[in-house]
Amino acid sequence: MTRDEQAEGRPRERFVTGGGGVRLCVAEYGDAALPTVVLVHGYPDSKEVWSEVADRLADRFHVVLYDVRGHGRSGAPARLRGGFTLEKLTEDFLAVADAVSPDHPVHLVGHDWGSVQGWEFATVRDTEGRISSFTSISGPSLDHFGHWIKRRVRRPTPRRVVQVVGQGAKSWYVYALHTPVLPELAWRGVLGKQWPKLLARAEKLPTDSYPTASLPEDAAHGAWLYRDNVRRRLGSPRPDAYAHVPVQLITPTGDAFLSERLYDDLDRWVPRLTRRTVAAKHWVPRSRPEQLARWIGDFVTSHEYGDPASASVVSAESTAATVLGASGAAAKERFGGQLVLVTGAASGIGRATVFAFAEAGTRVIAVDRDGEGAARTAELARLSGAPDAWPETVDVSDAEAMEKLAARTADLYGVPDVVVNNAGIGLAGSFLDTTPEDWKQVLDVNLWGVIHGCRLFGKLMVERGQGGHIVNTASAAAFQPSRALPAYSTSKAAVLMLSECLRAELAPHGIGVSAICPGLVNTPITRSARFAGVGEEEQEKRRARSARLYGLRNYPPEKVARAILRAVRRDTAVVPVTPEARGARLLSRLSPKALRGLSRIDPPV
Ligand code: NAD
Repeated sequence: MTRDEQAEGRPRERFVTGGGGVRLCVAEYGDAALPTVVLVHGYPDSKEVWSEVADRLADRFHVVLYDVRGHGRSGAPARLRGGFTLEKLTEDFLAVADAVSPDHPVHLVGHDWGSVQGWEFATVRDTEGRISSFTSISGPSLDHFGHWIKRRVRRPTPRRVVQVVGQGAKSWYVYALHTPVLPELAWRGVLGKQWPKLLARAEKLPTDSYPTASLPEDAAHGAWLYRDNVRRRLGSPRPDAYAHVPVQLITPTGDAFLSERLYDDLDRWVPRLTRRTVAAKHWVPRSRPEQLARWIGDFVTSHEYGDPASASVVSAESTAATVLGASGAAAKERFGGQLVLVTGAASGIGRATVFAFAEAGTRVIAVDRDGEGAARTAELARLSGAPDAWPETVDVSDAEAMEKLAARTADLYGVPDVVVNNAGIGLAGSFLDTTPEDWKQVLDVNLWGVIHGCRLFGKLMVERGQGGHIVNTASAAAFQPSRALPAYSTSKAAVLMLSECLRAELAPHGIGVSAICPGLVNTPITRSARFAGVGEEEQEKRRARSARLYGLRNYPPEKVARAILRAVRRDTAVVPVTPEARGARLLSRLSPKALRGLSRIDPPV
């Protein structure tokens, strides 16, 4: 490495001779004494597709990228037909692995065709002992895919037929690439010129220095990856394509080219499988580098050092599930290793939500004005499976304190992937009994707290440019008028509308927004709720009465927490929780008049 490269953290480049004497351009980041992670690019890409991920891994690992033969600065085989078989690509990989890490096996990561190749490397004999782990992103094993199709064709059910037809439709480009000459002409002509713009628009990628100038040639050569392998392997898939290494499968749920169903049978082929899903499109190395770097880093660390604290999956699985129950596996796939911030985390719904995310293997920040309570929640979150958990003492209605929280969070922990603006207080009493101070207090916490959270963390998420999700806890009171709760209901209706507006604004940034609207949930909110226009003695009596009512109703906050995780997974706009909330929502649409009638009845508290 030259002094300049060292100073600027630029990769060192060199050439390695691959199968059949093809020269492969290899780039290395970080200290070569650290565990080696080899990142293999897809089609039509070059090694630079990984630059953002490599930058984020280079402080902990020796990161290696190489241009696949025929791509970027690597040479192409003299005869293209037959020059791109998986067998030849395996020879290339072994040559690179031997050059960059002669004494230790490497951790392999592949995206798209890099992952298709990776499956070959992770399942053939020749590479045994040379690979420690494999992270597969958006590229199936052609052998597994072949068996997947065969099984569905041999024993068709309506569901299986739909799956095969669905994936067939997503694979239109594979048929196109099998036509002779035309793809090459298109890539070297108009398609090659337009591709960077098409890619940026379709995948919502930042318009930066990627793709590189070699794209038209890369794409023209790369057509042989398909022609040399797809029909051959799908027609007669290897019967013994079992992975001899642990595999982490990362599936982008918005992938236009691959159906999630392709991986349904994967446990059969991979004895040690960890599944992850990410709400993103196909080109995740460009759109979600931070998330990928975290998952890759955790996976590599856990298999390199066996350190459960740094492997969210391991730690999450070793703790008995208490909140998530049957939905635990799906939650771990989706959220493991992410960063989640929850306000109002010392008690009730917020606390249960922290535990649910902790069980899913996320790192959590528990925020509350009750510092001791927040610390307790964070401590228990670690025991529930969070790889890390931190308490923060903040009053959400305090704009300055929230600004500091956002800055500190970004500095110390990173940009949260999910923010749950949940802190809230109760206030009952007629409108005429509600003083301006009462209004101010309830709006400051229930509405301004949510505004601050959305504004500050929404901005961080947009600036990071890698998506995210904001959840706001509203209430069934948002669509159910009541003569007894004018201030509280107004604050929650505002939260609901704010969430809907923000959802529209943040959608182009890949950031979802959900409003959660529970009915009566058995939490300590009744202990702190206030009743306007009554003396202290009467306050206590009413609190006790409503606590009894909430206790009798006995709807657990854990169920709301589960609904919150589901809402993020499915990106649902408005989520009524509890039967009474769902009923009120239905009535508000079908017969608002009936709901108005109900609003005149005094509640039993
Ligand atoms: P809770 O009282 O058990 O928890 C609320 C938490 O928020 C407490 O830990 C409290 O210290 C914290 N908090 C209050 N004001 C704060 C502030 N200014 N800054 C920081 N933290 C603050 O109540 P819960 O039932 O879990 O309520 C959570 C959310 O759910 C609230 O927004 C509430 O309005 C909403 N909600 C509750 C119910 C219900 O029946 N419990 C129903 C619908 C909506």
